[in-house]
Amino acid sequence: MNPKHASNCEELRRRFEGREAICVEKGALRVRVGNIRPRGGFHIGADVEEIPTPGLGVGMFHRLRPLGVGPLRWTVRAGYLTTFTAQSWQMGYGGWSFLFTPEIVEAAVSFAARRPENSDPDEGYQELCRLLRDLEIHEPAQLVFPDAVEQGSDAFRRSNSPPIGVQMLSGWIVCPNCDMRFKVSDPRRWDGQQHTTCGQRLMIKAT
Ligand SMILES: [Zn+2]
Repeated sequence: MNPKHASNCEELRRRFEGREAICVEKGALRVRVGNIRPRGGFHIGADVEEIPTPGLGVGMFHRLRPLGVGPLRWTVRAGYLTTFTAQSWQMGYGGWSFLFTPEIVEAAVSFAARRPENSDPDEGYQELCRLLRDLEIHEPAQLVFPDAVEQGSDAFRRSNSPPIGVQMLSGWIVCPNCDMRFKVSDPRRWDGQQHTTCGQRLMIKAT
């Protein structure tokens, strides 16, 4: 992986691994974020587990909760537009955000505890959004994969670096530019010269 991308992934993991957050995506839930790891192809993923909290989740998370089962658990995967700050991680292009600021987590938990039982989950989400907007800290956000983003347009920037030599193992290649594993027999990934996902040109050495 590009060393800058690798160090950003590591920094993101170091800041947020195992920490509590408020997850916001058309709803809000208190969660713990763990197993943060790069996924290849300019993706980074994590496992998310709900921390059951009276009055949360609101909005979409209210509807997602099946009755009578334990905490919600899911995995997230963020792509090349994902950003992070000292206390938050955003999927980018309008997806989820994790807000790790302890004061924000506390405020959301105490807001939820004050919600009357059977109150409307969508109104609850709107109210919580207003509260979060007041508490929001406008820290500078940084891209996790800056070299993959075209400045100004946010379009994916394909690699125009010179060809890199790679070893093929049983028909598989790990792209040294984006860390994605692909088969050279897959025309969607390999056009004979470049890894079509990221545009990196490769010189394949058969073992
Ligand atoms: Zn690639």
